[in-house]
Amino acid sequence: MDASCPRCAQVMNWVNGHYHCDTCNSDYRQLAECPDCGRPLQELKACGAVDYLCQNGHGLISKKRVKFSYWPI
Ligand SMILES: [Zn+2]
Ligand SMILES: [Zn+2]
Repeated sequence: MDASCPRCAQVMNWVNGHYHCDTCNSDYRQLAECPDCGRPLQELKACGAVDYLCQNGHGLISKKRVKFSYWPI
């Protein structure tokens, strides 16, 4: 999955469980948000796949609809 740096929009690398931007030399963690309410989604990991559940009543959110944001570590 490609992730773009929130600061410089370059594609980041996945390193040791987080994203790293070489350009900014910064680390970011990924946060999944509901496209309907903007609240953080709960990650349900099963059989190598990840499902996203909105605890605000929107149910399971397909990965294509999940909004990802990136926060400095
Ligand atoms: Zn950057
Ligand atoms: Zn929601």
